[in-house]
Amino acid sequence: MVPLRSEMTNYQDIIEELYHKLLERKNVGEVADYIPKLGKVDPEKFGICLTDMDNIHYSIGDYDEKFSIQSIAKVLSLCLLYNKKGEEIWQRVDVEPSGTPFNSLVQLEADKGIPRNPFINPGAIVICDMLISEFENPKKELRDYIRRATNSKNIHFNESTAASERSNGFMNIASINFIRSFGNIQNKLDEVLDLYFLLCSIEMTCIEASQAFLFLANEGKCNHTGDTLIIKSRAKRVNAIMLTCGFYDEAGEFAFRVGLPGKSGVGGGIVSILPGEFSIAVWSPRLNSKGNSHRGMKFLEEFTSATSSIF
Ligand code: GLN
Repeated sequence: MVPLRSEMTNYQDIIEELYHKLLERKNVGEVADYIPKLGKVDPEKFGICLTDMDNIHYSIGDYDEKFSIQSIAKVLSLCLLYNKKGEEIWQRVDVEPSGTPFNSLVQLEADKGIPRNPFINPGAIVICDMLISEFENPKKELRDYIRRATNSKNIHFNESTAASERSNGFMNIASINFIRSFGNIQNKLDEVLDLYFLLCSIEMTCIEASQAFLFLANEGKCNHTGDTLIIKSRAKRVNAIMLTCGFYDEAGEFAFRVGLPGKSGVGGGIVSILPGEFSIAVWSPRLNSKGNSHRGMKFLEEFTSATSSIF
């Protein structure tokens, strides 16, 4: 039998070495203050946790502190819906990289209200609309699904982060109105936006975030319970969308530098997976100009080079 990479690589040593190396380098970028509450987060937080297929955690820094996962949650809302409804969801949201910022409206007009992919804001908003049509209590379904993936009950929406984002959520409000004008929103706009902002407000530690994504490295099955969260062929497709669309107009750059499927959030988190091997979460709130964690990307770039982790 071919040994697992974790049997050949000392992840803890590599993570610690890179962590200290990056702490010595100048950290640049700004926190996401367009969401007032996120503007107050300590920009120098830095945590990492890798979870391997034996559910062993390798971690360092602020890995056990909750942060706002923001757009990282869009992968989990997609999985819940895709698992339930199957391929018909692709009639309302596409699977193409947008090459534009996460909140951009420019392509929606030419594309007649069909967002390019489920990870830009317009796409995630359409997914929330479909969740509301599909489930009697979408908020609870979403929370319970994410708890199952994480194998923890300690996963919550942060209502005050959601309210803070809503108070300044003009681009998302513009987006949903624009999409609605093309008929691609079927529920009340306020209800859809509420669910979207709540989704983005979920908080996790790096341990929880790496645990939450491990099923995507495990053919769709929760590594703790064996519970199927999404069927294998669909897990493959979600990973493909993460690889091509997980970082907006920096998706090519992330694939080029890191080489793994991943998803970022403006809270400064990034989660990335290597199928059959591990899931890794990094948190560092300073964002580059594309809204992705500056230090998080750097760490993952050096980590995949140091461990020869290839997709
Ligand atoms: N809640 C954020 C927004 O809608 C999510 C963006 C992100 O994390 N990239 O703007």
